[in-house]
Amino acid sequence: MNLGISGRWAIVCAASQGLGKGCAEALANEGVNLVINARTTETLEQTATELRTRFPTITVHTIVGDVTQEAVQQALLAAAPQVDILVNNAGGPPPGDFRDWGRNDWLKALDANMLTPIALIKAVVDGMAERGFGRVVNITSGAVKAPIDILGLSNGARSGLTGFVAGVARQQRLAGKNVTVNNLLPGDFDTARLQKNLQLVSQTQGSLESVTQARISTIPAARFGTPEEFGAYCAFLCSHYGGYITGQNLLIDGGAYPGTF
Ligand code: NAP
Repeated sequence: MNLGISGRWAIVCAASQGLGKGCAEALANEGVNLVINARTTETLEQTATELRTRFPTITVHTIVGDVTQEAVQQALLAAAPQVDILVNNAGGPPPGDFRDWGRNDWLKALDANMLTPIALIKAVVDGMAERGFGRVVNITSGAVKAPIDILGLSNGARSGLTGFVAGVARQQRLAGKNVTVNNLLPGDFDTARLQKNLQLVSQTQGSLESVTQARISTIPAARFGTPEEFGAYCAFLCSHYGGYITGQNLLIDGGAYPGTF
């Protein structure tokens, strides 16, 4: 299926590895030009080189830096001639007990998982509406639907973004101009972050193999998701055909969420 977005420009935040990279690859495969970002120069440039080699017809720009910083956001916006697609992503906040968190911990989580996506959305959606095409995808978490106790910073900050998106996506001055805003909610995807979490758990609860198998046993699909398939869902939402899907929270978790709705 040709998704009808060849030649468009996308900003993909936090995209040197994992889910962000999966989204960048899937968009590149559709002929979308990219501005990708991460904090570590070496891995970001490695990913950019890989993308340029695999998809020689597209342009790939890199912006190194912490996406929560305003200067980095401005550099991302300036690197694309126009922003047709925005994929918001950043690292997730650390786990812990809410009794140990102070105001600064909350501000960090809010910056990464709520305020930065909102700032970038604000910067791009009106231009998208003027041009009659825009797609925003925010990578949030399955924890928005089924909160995870030790991830209180993530539960809170991402729920704030989710509430904001629910309202803004339904503005007719956006949706009526073919601008959509949606959230993708990953369950367990096999990325460096997931492997790090499993290793942490295995320090107190058994071998890495047994901890991994225990986690997989909670997933009806009996496996972790892959960044490649996550990217494909993202690319579809960003496609020409995604214009009638907005304000949605798409849970991609192999059936792990146990509710009917
Ligand atoms: P990952 O494999 O650790 O990759 C994170 C990517 O983001 C890297 O490219 C990293 O590069 C970049 N990054 C992190 N913080 C950044 C920042 N402040 N500014 C710019 N780039 C930044 O993580 P992932 O598994 O793909 O997770 C992506 C998001 O999905 C996270 O918010 C995570 O909490 C959420 N999530 C993931 C899962 C899962 O199963 N994987 C499940 C639920 C939610 P640098 O370190 O070089 O910056």
